[in-house]
Amino acid sequence: MSGLAHICLDWGLTVSGTDAKASEALDCLAARGARVQAGHAADCVDGAELLVYSSAVREENPERIRARELGIPEMRRGEFLAHVATCFDNVVAVGGSHGKTTTAAMLAHILLDAGRQPGYLIGGDVPAWPRPARAGSGVVLVTEVDESDGTQSLVRSSHAIVTNVEDDHCWSLGGIEALERCFVDFADAAQRLITWDHPTPRRLFSHHPAARFLALADWPAGMELAVPGAHNLMNATLALEAAMQLGVAPAQAAVSLRSFCGVSRRLSERFRSPDGRIVIVEDYAHHPTELRASLSALRGGYPKHRLLAVFQAHRVERVKRYAAEFADALSTTDEAVVTAPFAAWLDDLSLADPRTIATAVRGVPSRYHDGPLAELAAELAAEIAGRPGNELAAVIGAGDVSQLVPLLRNCVVDGLLERWRHDLATAVGGLRIGRDQTWSELTTLRLGSGRPLVARPESTEQLVALLARARTLGLSVQVLGGGSNLVGTDDELPCLFVQLRQGEFVRTRRRGAEVRCGAGVPLARLIRGVLRAGHLPAVAAGLAWIPGTVGGAITMNAGAHDANIGDFVARVCGLRTSGEPWGQAGDEIDWRYRGTDIPGDVILADVTLTFPDGDATDAVARLEETGRRRRESQPRGHSVGCVFRNPPGQAAGRLLDSSGCKGLRVGGCGVSRKHANFLMHDSQGTEQDFVELVLEALRRVQRQTGLVLEPEVRFVNPATAARVRKNLDWLHDAAGPAREPTASAECAPSSERDAG
Ligand SMILES: Cc1cc2nc3c(=O)[nH]c(=O)nc-3n(C[C@H](O)[C@H](O)[C@H](O)COP(=O)(O)OP(=O)(O)OC[C@H]3O[C@@H](n4cnc5c(N)ncnc54)[C@H](O)[C@@H]3O)c2cc1C
Repeated sequence: MSGLAHICLDWGLTVSGTDAKASEALDCLAARGARVQAGHAADCVDGAELLVYSSAVREENPERIRARELGIPEMRRGEFLAHVATCFDNVVAVGGSHGKTTTAAMLAHILLDAGRQPGYLIGGDVPAWPRPARAGSGVVLVTEVDESDGTQSLVRSSHAIVTNVEDDHCWSLGGIEALERCFVDFADAAQRLITWDHPTPRRLFSHHPAARFLALADWPAGMELAVPGAHNLMNATLALEAAMQLGVAPAQAAVSLRSFCGVSRRLSERFRSPDGRIVIVEDYAHHPTELRASLSALRGGYPKHRLLAVFQAHRVERVKRYAAEFADALSTTDEAVVTAPFAAWLDDLSLADPRTIATAVRGVPSRYHDGPLAELAAELAAEIAGRPGNELAAVIGAGDVSQLVPLLRNCVVDGLLERWRHDLATAVGGLRIGRDQTWSELTTLRLGSGRPLVARPESTEQLVALLARARTLGLSVQVLGGGSNLVGTDDELPCLFVQLRQGEFVRTRRRGAEVRCGAGVPLARLIRGVLRAGHLPAVAAGLAWIPGTVGGAITMNAGAHDANIGDFVARVCGLRTSGEPWGQAGDEIDWRYRGTDIPGDVILADVTLTFPDGDATDAVARLEETGRRRRESQPRGHSVGCVFRNPPGQAAGRLLDSSGCKGLRVGGCGVSRKHANFLMHDSQGTEQDFVELVLEALRRVQRQTGLVLEPEVRFVNPATAARVRKNLDWLHDAAGPAREPTASAECAPSSERDAG
């Protein structure tokens, strides 16, 4: 459904809508200006000219009731798609029991590469694309069509692709004859047909005047794909033929296909331990044919791993029909766990015994799991950790079993962190290393239940030994300062954090106006020490109010009240995570607004600063005055200071304020009423709450002013950072070329621009 919404937005239509739960798909639509929300709400249809609903949405849905009350016409998704398709010169409609999403995505990928500006509408997430649908230039539309509600036959196409026809979904259409009739009608509505040379397509489509039946022999010899599995070769053969019929040169199409990296939840690797021993894969297979194909691809792709499959049947009807076939397929694994089936629409769970699949598995250990997925994740992680060899856990199904993936990943990482902790503590004598604090204890925002592995070396010697051992383990290393510019996470992260707030890294030596100190020294302590010694120029006094360490301040080029730390740095030294020493003079560094060009893998250890002499009385007065200004303008409580960077010549706080963000709340987090660039964590908030708040603030500012703010804070969880980045890309995409700010968002006083 979100794909159709994107095409409507591309056409300049106003779109509103709801989904049962919050999702990335909703985020993306919201960023592009659609009025969307999680949870169904009747008033969402007010003012609409048409209500489009998915076939799974029943008549009693509040939005459908409201539409009827208001006399707004209703249309099923497939019917609306048929209308949309009439707006394109050529339509390639991809149907079939299996592989239609991948085949459609492959074809759209080829056409995009060939510069054809296709419209496309894909039913899955293609990680390489910003969004799953686009209107394109109007010349060609590649769309996946759905046989489950019979609407596919409504789509008139220039080219139909039928990947295959099996008895899936026939129960909702009234039997296998009705399903086959639906495919025949779909093919008959196409000027040309491309399909696979198998008995069923031959039987159903031989009468078609322009049918092309393909076999594996049609696949160009020697050509390879980035996606695994024989089934993907078949999908690619169909996509290649369609591309050639649309005029793309075969050689060019073949090159494009080689760079196609797949669709989410299709044999997607979701975790790999640094040594490659443990891998978690997610797959969407929910029909026996798909399950066999996926398991065979996994065997081929991971020949040295023990294969543990966690399978969830999708819909009760499939348990009834295919239990024996599912069990046969699972018997080819090394171990199978079957979870409770995913029920949808009017499914009655009492109609099938959910245990039948697990009990019919032969020759390998199998079991049925009916409890919470968190429990299963903990059990499986313990089993995986307890075995010495390579382990591949495949989470397979089209339903909510996907929720097991992050849970299992967290439990697996939890076990790995314990092992690494023990290994590093043994390898580096006297090293303090542990998982004794959560992110909520390590950061000023006080948010995040994850427990990172934090090493606290006392000396350069220990640090060098630590880095050497971490390299052997393949561990990525990050640095943690005072945590005053970091957003913690509820996840467990498979990496090592180093904190230098002890031993030689917190020593300070002063010689006149020159100070040499360890990177772990608190910035406030350093500045006040220089002030007390009578060497601080007044302009630097405001730096004393910035929380965190000298190392963190240099990384961020922290600044306040007309001074930045970079203005005073004479030399910085440290180590690269490879163990190589690194050092640079202050004037060789590019000091940017809240950043530098210091390589990202440098651990700053030792810093020399020089402060031009100033009048001590002026410095004290300035310290007091900047402190007073902060108390007046900034809220107290748990925060990361200013969350967003100031756009050139403007104050982000003002833009947020004029966009109505003050007071905005998500769960335990909210935008301060005192200073809109402070996003506060009250209590009990989650990483998710904070990120939702950041995204909503970004959307409001973009809608109101046309500007896309950039976060100044750093998200420790790479997945969260990627989510925010994705949203920023969508917002930039929606904003188009930068607009002039509105009058209400114009320049703010410098007090709001340079502090926090
Ligand atoms: C109430 C409040 C007010 C604030 N006011 C200001 C302000 O006025 N001006 C301003 O600029 N900022 C401000 N901040 C933000 C923050 O304090 C600064 O960015 C600070 O310099 C971060 O230092 P830290 O030690 O806490 O770094 P962290 O937050 O721990 O880390 C920040 C980044 O620095 C890296 N890092 C830390 N130490 C090292 C090291 N030794 N080697 C390599 N990389 C390292 C980390 O990996 C991370 O990428 C404020 C924050 C709060 C909570």
